[in-house]
Amino acid sequence: MHNSAINFRFTQAVGKIRRFYKATFRPRASAKLVELRHGDCNRCGRCCKILFRCPFLREDGDTYSCRIYGYHFSACKLFPLEQRDIDELGGDCTYYFTNPPAGVHARPGDLKQEPRERLWQIS
Ligand code: SF4
Repeated sequence: MHNSAINFRFTQAVGKIRRFYKATFRPRASAKLVELRHGDCNRCGRCCKILFRCPFLREDGDTYSCRIYGYHFSACKLFPLEQRDIDELGGDCTYYFTNPPAGVHARPGDLKQEPRERLWQIS
């Protein structure tokens, strides 16, 4: 394995830990990040294959869903939190981010809302 591939894998491993920590232990900060996100999920399943394929990922032809939907991790619900999360997919995600407008703050209840048409919805 080349050094660049090893570095990329290392970045993905650090990203998984970072997202788990932020989504689980920093919910307010994560809500602010999610507020800066735009676009929709196309249910491509790529974020469920970062570093390794999630064992809960179900594939039916071109359709992906989560076997533990409703009990899945916060880091999965909130992906992507930042542009660097998308970078871990080689930029291949239909969400995108903008710079924070002045005075942006998380709205109460942001974390209770899941994005529409997420991968984890059972089809
Ligand atoms: S969040 Fe992005 S990478 Fe994950 S399934 Fe949706 S579009 Fe694909």
